[in-house]
Amino acid sequence: MREQLGLLWELQKIDLDLKNIKEEREQFPKEMKKLDEKQNMENEKIQKEKEKLELLEKERRQRERNLNLEHDKIKRAEGRMFEVKTNKEYQALLSEIDAIKEVASREEEEILQVMDEIDELKKDLAKREKEMVADLEKIEAERKKIQERMVQGDADWKRKMQRREILTKQIESKLFKLYNTLKEKRQGIGVVSVRNETCQGCFVNVPPQMFIEVQRNNALIRCPNCNRILYWEGDGKN
Ligand SMILES: [Zn+2]
Repeated sequence: MREQLGLLWELQKIDLDLKNIKEEREQFPKEMKKLDEKQNMENEKIQKEKEKLELLEKERRQRERNLNLEHDKIKRAEGRMFEVKTNKEYQALLSEIDAIKEVASREEEEILQVMDEIDELKKDLAKREKEMVADLEKIEAERKKIQERMVQGDADWKRKMQRREILTKQIESKLFKLYNTLKEKRQGIGVVSVRNETCQGCFVNVPPQMFIEVQRNNALIRCPNCNRILYWEGDGKN
């Protein structure tokens, strides 16, 4: 029985490991998706800044066209200087020219402001693009790590399945069946260790006499509370 219990204990540990590997495997696509999303967000941020920059460039060109129009207006008005006949007409033309110049100078100021904004944004964009390169490298490295873990998980899985195959052949079929039934009913745990007179499956105390017997690993003893097969793994001191 001692040997059988030992084999069963090993099987239980392998089954728990397999469960962990399976759960981890299910996480990989989610982790990969998260990385994709992170990358998309980085790209979007840059894209938005580029669009903003384009808009500002467009505004600058529009304002420059406006400014040219105002300059043309000034030239035309100045051309009319030779045609004025009265002082009144002359004064009116001068104030007309002043008004146009006023508009032109406001446009110039706006253009300077837009150009400042463009400079600022370009600097920001260059910085962001540099950061993005670094971020993308990090994302790529994380992707690689996940892929390595996937490969490692597959290898572990294969190895443990092979060992499991051997164990299931060595364990008596009655015991194996009992283990499977318990495992199914008790969250994947059919055999459990006892520590400090406590079942480590349900954390309920086992009677002292039972605890002594469990420590011998000589008989099939089951937890009076959760029904799991009890196993003495040592007291954790060695
Ligand atoms: Zn129990």
